[in-house]
Amino acid sequence: MPNLLNLSPLEKEKEAGLTALKARMLTDESLPLRKGATNLVFGVGNPDTKILFIGEGPGYWEDQRGEPFVGNAGKLLDSLLQLIKLGRGDVYITNVVHHRPPENRDPLPEETKAYAPYLDKIIEIIGPKVIVTLGRFSMGKFLPGVKITAVHGKSYGINWKGKELVVVPMFHPAAALRSLEVMRQIREDFVNLPNILKEVTGKVEVEQMKFI
Ligand code: URA
Repeated sequence: MPNLLNLSPLEKEKEAGLTALKARMLTDESLPLRKGATNLVFGVGNPDTKILFIGEGPGYWEDQRGEPFVGNAGKLLDSLLQLIKLGRGDVYITNVVHHRPPENRDPLPEETKAYAPYLDKIIEIIGPKVIVTLGRFSMGKFLPGVKITAVHGKSYGINWKGKELVVVPMFHPAAALRSLEVMRQIREDFVNLPNILKEVTGKVEVEQMKFI
């Protein structure tokens, strides 16, 4: 929970927007995965960030803690962020679905559809310049029909509901934990992320990012 006293007016507005949205989700009985879940896993990080990371859905530890990417894949995500001198307080991290699917199965199309209005609103409130998709479910939302092996680490300019932004598809960290080659590629893609950011937002902001 950020210290509201230290936030700029814009950050406060975004934080308030996310808090209100989370409150709505907490009472939304129509969300299909809520019955089997312990906690809503809404999102974590800086509401005024330039970079939004979107994963697939909560696993066991995320469900227990109510925070995305806190298990083994999350530890890897933290260390990948550290590679580029970022922490989870510099970016925002959320998922395609915000309740844990039973037995960690893949979310079904109707489930991702049910959670999509909330994810869309999170994107609208934060207004990121760059969205990094982690895994095929979040990639498919923005770049349907592409193959992760062909596109990972590249930047794709898209028009998202009237706003220009850049999507960078990446492997899911859990896949990197299963394959040394994927680990090598995800590290390489993370190391190149500041260059993409530099192109998208201009050099000054990248320099500032190191001190956020
Ligand atoms: N995998 C995801 O896609 N999201 C999480 O929050 C944790 C693991």
